[in-house]
Amino acid sequence: MMKDNENRKMYKATCSECGAETEVPFEPDPSRPVFCRDCFMKKRNNNRRGGGFSRDRGPRRDDY
Ligand SMILES: [Zn+2]
Repeated sequence: MMKDNENRKMYKATCSECGAETEVPFEPDPSRPVFCRDCFMKKRNNNRRGGGFSRDRGPRRDDY
């Protein structure tokens, strides 16, 4: 019997947007922002037009 799905491991993370503590079902990648549920939904709604994620964090390159 496999009960792997019952006890999913959650990782603590800090939301990159609002700074709230949240838990994610995957190991947070330090090179990528983590969002709490609220911010994640907000981002999703904001990204409706365009299609494709744009990073709004980090230095922007204007030298091309
Ligand atoms: Zn947040």
